[in-house]
Amino acid sequence: MAKKKILTVPNPLLRKVSEPVNSINAEIKNLMDDMLETMYSAPGIGLAAVQVGVLKRIIVIDLSKDGEKKNPLFIVNPQITYKSDNLISYEEGCLSIPNQFAEVKRPSSCKVNFLDYHGKKTEINADGLLATCIQHEVDHLNGILFIDHLSKLKKDLILKKTKKQIREIDRVIV
Ligand code: ZN
Repeated sequence: MAKKKILTVPNPLLRKVSEPVNSINAEIKNLMDDMLETMYSAPGIGLAAVQVGVLKRIIVIDLSKDGEKKNPLFIVNPQITYKSDNLISYEEGCLSIPNQFAEVKRPSSCKVNFLDYHGKKTEINADGLLATCIQHEVDHLNGILFIDHLSKLKKDLILKKTKKQIREIDRVIV
């Protein structure tokens, strides 16, 4: 496994729509392993392939807490087939928008079909944090970021802060 670099805004790749995976071969499994390692070391609870620069419809998620046994979920070609009318609000962040957080309202539960690590067709009913996480990651596959769910004012502020932060990081390095 190898850790990959995580792309951050305003990288234009983050705005592209990812392509479905045709077959889950060794190359795709390698990518999923690398994504998991990258996510764990970030650390984060979800990562989409586009965030490491690969435009394929692949997501990894692990909601296990510190000290708990790892519980990775590999989601390939996800299709959300149901979203509840009931909404829930979480403070979301994103590895591609470092250190910025905002409350986002999304359906509190959803149903998703996908292929797992071994290519097996799987369906899960998700609610709470898992439902939010799946929807956040599926958005990535469609070029959508969590800040797109905010008002223009909040979104612009976050983008401005992120840019400033990146400039400050550069200054320290120089
Ligand atoms: Zn994200």
